[in-house]
Amino acid sequence: MINKIAHIAIAVNDLDKEIERYRDILGLDYLGMEVVEKQKVKVAFFKVGETQIELTAPTEWDSPVGKFLKKRGSGIHHIAYEVDDVENQIKEFKEKGVRMIDETSRLGAEKAKIAFVHPEGFSGVLIELKEK
Ligand code: ZN
Repeated sequence: MINKIAHIAIAVNDLDKEIERYRDILGLDYLGMEVVEKQKVKVAFFKVGETQIELTAPTEWDSPVGKFLKKRGSGIHHIAYEVDDVENQIKEFKEKGVRMIDETSRLGAEKAKIAFVHPEGFSGVLIELKEK
C-alpha cells in the first residue's frame, strides 16, 4: 500500500548552485547531501512538511541521471512513494502486469530499500517505491 509521497526528485546539472537556490531563495530546510555510488549520483535533501525534495546530479555522465539530463534537460526525474514493504509491493504490481525496472529491491539513498517502476504505464513518470 502506498502511504504518502516520500520525495520528488529533480535532476539538476549543478548541484551546489541548485542547493543554494532551494535553500536561500525557496527557503527550504536543507537536510544534507549524499553520494550514492551505485547509481552514480549526488543527492541533496530538503524537508517540505511531510515530504522531501531531492535534487539529484550525476557523478558521471554515463549514468541513468546523466543520460536523462543529456536527453531531456533538468526537471522532475521521479516521484517516490513510501510503502510499508517494497518486496510485497513489487509482487503486487507484477501480478497486476506492471512493468518493473527493478524486479527486486535495492539500496538507495539513506540506505532505504527501493525499487523503480517503469514509466511506460504511468504517463511517462518514473516511479520509485521506498520502504519507510
Ligand atoms: Zn528517489
